[in-house]
Amino acid sequence: MSTAMHPTTRGVAAIADELAPETGRPVVLDEQGKREVRRACLSGVCIPGHQIPFGSREMPVARGWGSGGLQVTVALAGPEDTVKVIDQGDDEGVNAVNLRRLIRGSLGCSGTTDAREATIIQSRHRVPEERLRPDQIVVLQVPVSEPLRPVEKSVTECRRMHGDGDYSKTWVAMYEDLVTGGVITAAAGYPVLIHDRHLMAPSPIPRWDVPRFGREHLTLLSHGRDKKIYAVPPHTRIEPITFTDVPFEVEYDTDQVCVRCGSRDTYQVATREGDWVCSDTDWCARVLDGDVDRDDQLAVAPRAYYPDPVVRARAVGTELRGRADLEPGGRRAVTATGTEWALKVSGLGRTYPARRGSSAVRAAVDVSFDVAPGEALGIIGESGSGKSTVFRCVIGEEPADTGSVRLAAVGDGEVEVLDLDAGARRALRVSTLAVVHQDPAAGLDLRISAGGNIAERLTAAGWRSYADIRRRAAALLDRVEVPLGRMDDVVGQFSGGMRQRVQIAKALAADPEVLLLDEPTTGLDASVAAGVLDLLAELIAERDVAVAVVSHDFGVISALTDRALVMQRGHVVETGLTDQLLADPHHPYTQRLVAAARS
Ligand code: ADP
Ligand code: MG
Repeated sequence: MSTAMHPTTRGVAAIADELAPETGRPVVLDEQGKREVRRACLSGVCIPGHQIPFGSREMPVARGWGSGGLQVTVALAGPEDTVKVIDQGDDEGVNAVNLRRLIRGSLGCSGTTDAREATIIQSRHRVPEERLRPDQIVVLQVPVSEPLRPVEKSVTECRRMHGDGDYSKTWVAMYEDLVTGGVITAAAGYPVLIHDRHLMAPSPIPRWDVPRFGREHLTLLSHGRDKKIYAVPPHTRIEPITFTDVPFEVEYDTDQVCVRCGSRDTYQVATREGDWVCSDTDWCARVLDGDVDRDDQLAVAPRAYYPDPVVRARAVGTELRGRADLEPGGRRAVTATGTEWALKVSGLGRTYPARRGSSAVRAAVDVSFDVAPGEALGIIGESGSGKSTVFRCVIGEEPADTGSVRLAAVGDGEVEVLDLDAGARRALRVSTLAVVHQDPAAGLDLRISAGGNIAERLTAAGWRSYADIRRRAAALLDRVEVPLGRMDDVVGQFSGGMRQRVQIAKALAADPEVLLLDEPTTGLDASVAAGVLDLLAELIAERDVAVAVVSHDFGVISALTDRALVMQRGHVVETGLTDQLLADPHHPYTQRLVAAARS
């Protein structure tokens, strides 16, 4: 099907005819709409890379045909402007020609194909090869506004990740690419970090154009359907997401020479005959006319990012030695007395409000305990006694009604953890307070590899070397007895016991000060559970991490802990050394639990 026959394009052509300069200045976007768009552009400039919603209007072009870009161009341009429109670098594409006519007709401005003459360049997916000036604006039509879409489907969760600056899932996608293909496959719409803060996937421009953002000119990106605008002002620091030892690479092949103009240092596309030509038709034509400044263009060609397979292979080919690479570490200096707490919970209370058909539940009442580095504390009680509620309040999944939680690692223990905002509490979960859930799926992403799951935690903790991440993940997996040969397999293919081992490795990855284990072996077959229990006992013995273990099973509590609390209906009814509780339980409820464990 020829593009010219596409109904939408024909529609644009017809409207462009109607809006031809000689027929007057019909209105594409009213003044109110223009103001809204301009306001969004200004906000975008103030917070580079951040997506700003705007009151989108119906445009006389179908969405997907540049309606977002059209709104920005029409809102910014006046009669004195000169507008260039390109489609994949091509000034003469049907869509480009018609959008240019439409804009000219509506605004009475002039049009051009020469990038040097343009004040506004509206583009679908390219930045001109020409070095752009501070008085020029590039408007990019954006087909997908959310850079996290490839790694997270939930809109709410994406918003949360932007809010927290938590882009570890994007890092993991890069990691998984390298594991499976040896290269980062994200081609167009490559994710970048702006001012070390906001993630953006700039339109699906080729990687070639990524380093040309944030130089002299202003870039505005606009998505019509999502009604979002974002901006990269001049002189903005923008970093492609990549590992320190796996450099960002643009599309470049020394064999590619434009058959028309002979250029090498341009972005090129294949012709039907299999030749290469410049994607930027304006540049190509001017090279033939001898009307270019090659030095100027070379100065902005992304030569620093031409591929270097040797460098890439060095990082990607990291030799993995398993446990041998695990530093004796995770170990911290223990305080002289060894009794100082790492986690201190005081008077914690939580009542679930009454709901239709059920009365209020006092799930935790005045629960207090502390755990020292290198110590393991047990919390035992029947199902429903409030054990998980206590953990959920400590990690912030559940608000506590009363009480106090302190972590020695947070503000030297002076800070009330319960008062921290949600983002700060989530940040604690990376390298301060780790949790192992009963269900491995709650702590893992089953769709990614075992190594990738650990990479997620490590990148969240700031690790940026691919080789270091590989080595650390291999060492941890080896330590929890997951065969190294399975490191790159998707966790969803693992057995329950193996998943739980991966979850434990992930929890320990960033050396947390405190580790909470919630029924860590309950979902496993008895023999598998015994193996995981042995592993946990070893890990606890070799680290200075403070551990709290919740279980309904005295067997688990006695295998892992020295001290324990007994919980019944939200109350702590007895505390003591685990061995003593087992040998000589005082409270009738504890006696029942012990009897159950013996039977
Ligand atoms: P455990 O982990 O010891 O089995 P939980 O802390 O999960 O106990 O639950 C303690 C009590 O709180 C139970 O009676 C349970 O039904 C109730 N409960 C737990 N979560 C909720 C909730 N989200 N809403 C209402 N009641 C809850
Ligand atoms: Mg529970």
